[in-house]
Amino acid sequence: MNDKTVRLAGLTPESVVDGLGLRFVIWAQGCRHRCPGCHSPFTWDFAGGRPYDMDEIINQVKRNPVLKGVTFSGGDPMEQAGKFAYLAGEIKKLGLDVWCYTGYTFEHILQNMDSRAGWRGFLENIDVLVDGRFEQDQRDLNLAFRGSRNQRIIDVPASLRSNRVTLLQL
Ligand code: SF4
Repeated sequence: MNDKTVRLAGLTPESVVDGLGLRFVIWAQGCRHRCPGCHSPFTWDFAGGRPYDMDEIINQVKRNPVLKGVTFSGGDPMEQAGKFAYLAGEIKKLGLDVWCYTGYTFEHILQNMDSRAGWRGFLENIDVLVDGRFEQDQRDLNLAFRGSRNQRIIDVPASLRSNRVTLLQL
């Protein structure tokens, strides 16, 4: 895989259920959390999906003038953090916001952001992080933008500034 490709399960050009506003969704391939009840176990295999050219994805995003932002989901985008950091940086240059879903908790990411390749650069380009594994016993169909009550919708820049988890005001 060369530097300008990322391994994905797929793309959804328009969605209103993966974050606030109309969003382009990029589905990462590869996840090690293996949550019981996961809706997309086909995204677990790190050799699954296929490589996508990241600049072609950015061009697709550019062609839709009514997008509010881009959401990274999966799979777990944190497993290809360097690639997603590049995508996030290019997306933010377009004036769009970046949401990211991950099975890791925000606290775990903070503790490991200098030991896991690409984590710091990626986190610093995320506006909203929906964190934590899907927990079947905390599943709640009434929750907006998350599957289980343990997951949090975190305002990342505010959390990094204040050094404490700050939830996004929806
Ligand atoms: S983190 Fe998400 S993709 Fe990974 S196993 Fe859990 S629910 Fe599935």
